[in-house]
Amino acid sequence: MLRIPCPYCGERDRTEFTYGGDARVQRPADTDHIRDKAWDDYLYFRDNPAGEHREYWQHSLGCRQWFTLVRNTVTNEVLKEAAANPGSGP
Ligand SMILES: [Zn+2]
Repeated sequence: MLRIPCPYCGERDRTEFTYGGDARVQRPADTDHIRDKAWDDYLYFRDNPAGEHREYWQHSLGCRQWFTLVRNTVTNEVLKEAAANPGSGP
């Protein structure tokens, strides 16, 4: 069972959270002049790493805050919890 440490509420069951995606992906800076291939890459293509992965999560059934953490995708072990950052999210 995956337990996730919310920076505001403490450790809770995964069922209280919503996965927000890969936290390493950066939105292109100039979207008015971006090429279609670069926009497609940003919107649709993600890595699927086996191992360490930095992710966005929202405590959707709790405090509703977004935060990032680093999780091992093979073992579900939470390796590093990021500091709370109100207003941030994907
Ligand atoms: Zn929380």
